Amino acid sequence: MVTIIKNVACFSPKYLGVKDICVMENKIASITDPGKLDLKGSGIRTLEAEGLLAFPGMIDGHVHIIGGGGEEGFESQIGEIDGTEILKAGITTVVGLLGADGLTKSLYSLLAKAKALESEGISTFIYSGSYALPPVTFTGDIAKDMVLIDKVVGAGEIAISDHRSSHPDIQELLALSSKVHMGSLIGGKAGLLHLHLGDGKTGLSLLHQLLEHSDLPMELFLPTHINRNPVLFEQGIAYVRQGGNIDLTSGEEQGLSIPEAIQKLIQEEINLQQVTVSSDANGSIPDGGVGKIRTLFDDVIRCITETRLSPELVFPLVTAYPARRLKQYPQKGILAAGSDADILLLNANYEIETLFAMGELKIHNKSFLGKEGNNWNMQQDV
Ligand code: ZN
Repeated sequence: MVTIIKNVACFSPKYLGVKDICVMENKIASITDPGKLDLKGSGIRTLEAEGLLAFPGMIDGHVHIIGGGGEEGFESQIGEIDGTEILKAGITTVVGLLGADGLTKSLYSLLAKAKALESEGISTFIYSGSYALPPVTFTGDIAKDMVLIDKVVGAGEIAISDHRSSHPDIQELLALSSKVHMGSLIGGKAGLLHLHLGDGKTGLSLLHQLLEHSDLPMELFLPTHINRNPVLFEQGIAYVRQGGNIDLTSGEEQGLSIPEAIQKLIQEEINLQQVTVSSDANGSIPDGGVGKIRTLFDDVIRCITETRLSPELVFPLVTAYPARRLKQYPQKGILAAGSDADILLLNANYEIETLFAMGELKIHNKSFLGKEGNNWNMQQDV
């Protein structure tokens, strides 16, 4: 199947101008000036996209795809995420993980769900481990998990500075970090130690000690929820200045919202390439709520429409930069020839019109098509 998306304003996420995008099977074959492609024949469909804006499909690096454990007993457990919900939020890649509940929620279910989502066209990765140390694993060893299981990109979310953490000491964290580092080297993986930060007193101090007492690369660590309170956010800014990467959580209501946080980072002249945003979807929120995946898209759009930041500045936080963290760039996170055909088309009001996930048409004219998308003939439609 070949699809030509015509006359679309392309944000790679860098603005490329108005272009034609040619999609062949699950890849972007070319991005050319309008009218340059002269392909005709059966199996070629055309989408006239004048007035629309194209972005890479969004990457959500922190999703409780099988649901987090609730914090008020079994009846408060959170359910699995629906693939439809992910795609309707403009997201084409997710990283699944366990959270506080590594007891009744298992890595086996996590891997099975990641594979099920992939059959719906969503690209998936997972972390081994949960909040607690010693970590839950598939094979008894995080490094072995990373080397032997394709989808495992590291360990997470390991909790520090939180009353729900296992209160790991520096030696325990060092041992785990070394495993993740070796797993990444041997398995050719991203190799991330994804650290959940709570509202605890110690903040990022344990991470600083760990870096002082080891020769591990700083890029191994990806602390998240950094915008959950102003003190932690200030520590996060200092950590980025020292060369570290941080992850922020969308839908934040107690601490700094994403538009507030990004504006502050820009004022502080922080290099946004070291910053990503994820949703914490289907995880439990301390006040009894549940994280929603849609907040990722909504917060990104609020940065553009309310805070008046440029799409070129904001979209990399959920496309190019998480793709780099996952070592999936330029396969993911960019619109370019040879990249995966994960393409999000928005209208001038920044509403989702169309979505391709791995070349499959999932949303068109604001309607969710699901598996029917493969049979959709766009020419009938324009
Ligand atoms: Zn968390």
